[in-house]
Amino acid sequence: MSCLFCKIASGEIPSAAIYQDERVYAFADINPKAPVHVLIVPREHIDSLAEATPEQNDLLGHLFWVAAEIARNKGLAKGYRVVVNTGEDGGQTVDHLHLHLLGARQLTWPPG
Ligand code: 5GP
Ligand code: ZN
Repeated sequence: MSCLFCKIASGEIPSAAIYQDERVYAFADINPKAPVHVLIVPREHIDSLAEATPEQNDLLGHLFWVAAEIARNKGLAKGYRVVVNTGEDGGQTVDHLHLHLLGARQLTWPPG
């Protein structure tokens, strides 16, 4: 298994879990862009949102629920942002589907 986020989600590379269940693993981004910056990944390898299939709709919905649950647990009552960088133009650098949960500061729009 060569995928970085597969290794993190499986525990092959140790990390502190922010949330985990049988389908999902969440951990802190190594290079945070906000005071709260959590990465939420499916344990199942999916290259990117562009490769997700209708059979994975329930998993994708669950990932978003997990993002909201972590935001609640971290007290982000004023709001937050969930980002899914996809492909080269989307700025995706790790080819394992992941949600970024960003919060605890005023975020600007549009993104760069
Ligand atoms: P992308 O650019 O693909 O949307 O997001 C990848 C994210 O993974 C980046 O925000 C980057 O900081 C983070 N990242 C890359 N390598 C590691 C790592 O080894 N550990 C952790 N915790 N985050 C990583
Ligand atoms: Zn993977």
